[in-house]
Amino acid sequence: MDIDGYRISEQPYYLASGNEVALYEAAYADRMPMMLKGPTGCGKTRFIEHMAWKLQRPLITVACHEDMTASDLVGRYLLDETGTVWHDGPLTIAVRCGAICYLDEIVEARQDTTVVIHPLTDERRLLPLEKKNELVRAHPDFQLVISYNPGYQSAIKDLKESTKQRFGAIDFDYPEKPLEAAIVAHEAKIDTALAESLVDIAARSRNLRGSGLDEGASTRMLIYAARLISRGIPILEACEVALITPVTDDADIRDALRSAVAACL
Ligand code: ADP
Repeated sequence: MDIDGYRISEQPYYLASGNEVALYEAAYADRMPMMLKGPTGCGKTRFIEHMAWKLQRPLITVACHEDMTASDLVGRYLLDETGTVWHDGPLTIAVRCGAICYLDEIVEARQDTTVVIHPLTDERRLLPLEKKNELVRAHPDFQLVISYNPGYQSAIKDLKESTKQRFGAIDFDYPEKPLEAAIVAHEAKIDTALAESLVDIAARSRNLRGSGLDEGASTRMLIYAARLISRGIPILEACEVALITPVTDDADIRDALRSAVAACL
């Protein structure tokens, strides 16, 4: 198995908002399972990439979805020319090799899938491979990390209390204006003044949360807008493509967002 493919050799750019780096380092030193909480596109994935690089651990990321089964995580028997052969899933690879396993948007997965992580998150640090009749003891460097977007949760689609209580958690949110502008300017190679205007637009769009919009513009969306602008697309069009059209089909809300864009430029 080529675990080296999961190592991050170059430092991922990450601007910290608070003491999340020190908190996470302490949690990793104790191999505490961690939950990164926050809206989509606010920097959780970039943070874990940065931390995996800093701690020199391989990082295995799994994007969870509603059709995901426990076998997709732990592995399954597959047929090949020699017969049936067991293939470890991404979680099992991480457990055996001492990687950080990042389950992105864990709440999307069905609850019977989520339960397979339980024995890994207590003192036992075990992963039972029922179909293979094997009990895998986690490598000492293995850590489980999940992301969780509190905005999306509904009563039927939420983590079980018994799952939540197995994790330490760090809150993430869109960074403060100067930081977010610095991130957008860096990631899209635009000047800071323009990045600040985009962040102002985002602030107005985030204020519309709850009155027609589920979430306002994320840092990721600002970076998309900025990249279109740096490729020569006029600002208004770039904002339309990256900040308005993706998030709503409602004509009134689109107009409200257009006014926000106009007010900030
Ligand atoms: P999430 O995992 O929360 O959905 P991401 O980590 O994918 O969000 O963030 C989206 C993009 O925003 C990243 O690819 C990165 O370019 C940028 N970004 C967000 N926050 C930061 C940060 N604090 N430092 C550096 N880049 C960031």
